[in-house]
Amino acid sequence: MSVYDKNNVFAKILRGEIPNKTVYEDEFVLAFYDVSPRAKVHVLVIPRGEYTDIYDFAQNAPLTLQTGFWNGVCNTVEKLGLRNNFRTIANTGRGSGQSVMHFHIHIMSDERFTEDF
Ligand code: AMP
Repeated sequence: MSVYDKNNVFAKILRGEIPNKTVYEDEFVLAFYDVSPRAKVHVLVIPRGEYTDIYDFAQNAPLTLQTGFWNGVCNTVEKLGLRNNFRTIANTGRGSGQSVMHFHIHIMSDERFTEDF
């Protein structure tokens, strides 16, 4: 089991120690623009909880947080106007390319989104 590092960059973002460009937030999630976008729209959604990756989250997060997380993903997608046009990625483990060990979903789309921020 991987150990959660409270000093990872997303933990710092959740604590307000590092700024972010927020797209959507509620009591369960924070969604913000990726600092190095690899698509026209590239947003990360993270849960407000200490989980290293999707496996840790699925196995150990309380169901209220799991439900709240996926609801937050949907609300983020709606806000971006991407309901029928987006890709999700959840890199898991260093071998996959995961660089930040706080569970996150990449939401990516190469189409222009329909709402202004
Ligand atoms: P992964 O490689 O799946 O762990 O994805 C981590 C993502 O976090 C990368 O796409 C980075 O560009 C992004 N990232 C790292 N630091 C920040 C930051 N301070 N604000 C926004 N995105 C970040």
